[in-house]
Amino acid sequence: MYRNFKIVPKIIFGRGAFNQLGDILKAKRPSGNSCMVFVLDRVFTGKTLEGRIPLEKGDLLLYANVDDEPTTTYVDELVAQVRAFSPRVPDGIIGIGGGSTMDLAKAISLMLTNPGSAADYQGWDLIKNPAVYHAAVPTLAGTGAEISRTTVLTGPDKKLGINSDYTLFDQILLDPELLAGVPKDQWFYTGMDCYIHDVESLNGTFLNEFSRAYGEKSLDLCRQVYLEDHPDKDDKLMMASYFGGMSIAYSQVGACHALSYGLAFVLGIHHGIGCCITFDYLDEIYPEGVREFREMMAKHSINLPQNITRGLDDAAMETMTTVALNLAPLWENCLGKDWKNIMTRERVRELYSRM
Ligand code: NAD
Ligand code: ZN
Repeated sequence: MYRNFKIVPKIIFGRGAFNQLGDILKAKRPSGNSCMVFVLDRVFTGKTLEGRIPLEKGDLLLYANVDDEPTTTYVDELVAQVRAFSPRVPDGIIGIGGGSTMDLAKAISLMLTNPGSAADYQGWDLIKNPAVYHAAVPTLAGTGAEISRTTVLTGPDKKLGINSDYTLFDQILLDPELLAGVPKDQWFYTGMDCYIHDVESLNGTFLNEFSRAYGEKSLDLCRQVYLEDHPDKDDKLMMASYFGGMSIAYSQVGACHALSYGLAFVLGIHHGIGCCITFDYLDEIYPEGVREFREMMAKHSINLPQNITRGLDDAAMETMTTVALNLAPLWENCLGKDWKNIMTRERVRELYSRM
């Protein structure tokens, strides 16, 4: 059975495209009293970008705290704030920020039309009702969250996305100028998330020509960004992120992502840096990808944290191992149907113990 998946229907790309956001949203505002909710990464508080948001009377500006990656509890809190502000369902939710903020915007738009807690919907196709119109403006590139059908959330007992066709954004606005102020380390970690999506997709057993076409282009753009020097590197990275997301939409990620989820769950390590830490130990699985990744790290003088699992007790190591091994599709993509015999618990623990 081939998957029949939805993609984001409206995309605007270009430097300064942010200036068109107001016009784009106009079409979504009913005449009279409209309400748009802008979910803004609070790192932009007091910055020029905040002042450029096309706020109108009756709109809400919600500041997102992304010190920790999004949790189901935080989503529930933000949804309660939106409900308290507007008794009727808002006309749109606009996420402005990196992967965390975009995921929060997706989750809020879903939970405004579906009863209960976000934790009730972690999984595949559990959402019953269409979301409120939602749009994204990435200010950080690499996760592919702008194009994916999931919002990754940490819940009471698992880190798992709300995966559904309703999760997809209705509109994305890709303005490479917005990447200008990203700190270097963060730019590297989030960009490497994209590079690793490509390597895992292109080396996976689920690969088809659709995924290969997007994955190869994305990988090529990552190489231009991280191994060469180009004045338009931000434009390239934004497209790499989009293409990388499209590549994994029809294939899957692999070992690095599975292991990074364990690190995130037990140690709270963020996605981009967690993928980098993990990838550095996967020479046996992705030899060429890891070699090139190290070349990129050296070029940008990136030093990854070491010995992060030292001092963890046996229970924590076991939890981490279980979280990683539970991601069966990722392992199957990486190692094939026989993956359980190849990636044993002992091997996962041994990999973690070296990190
Ligand atoms: P992020 O959104 O967590 O942001 C990282 C840091 O960069 C934050 O401190 C943020 O405030 C800051 N930042 C963002 N834009 C900035 C800018 N322009 N200038 C200065 N600082 C800026 O980072 P991320 O790597 O983009 O996203 C990671 C999150 O995305 C994780 O929660 C992960 O689970 C999720 N994710 C989702 C998907 C998906 O398909 N939905 C895929 C991969 C990762
Ligand atoms: Zn990723």
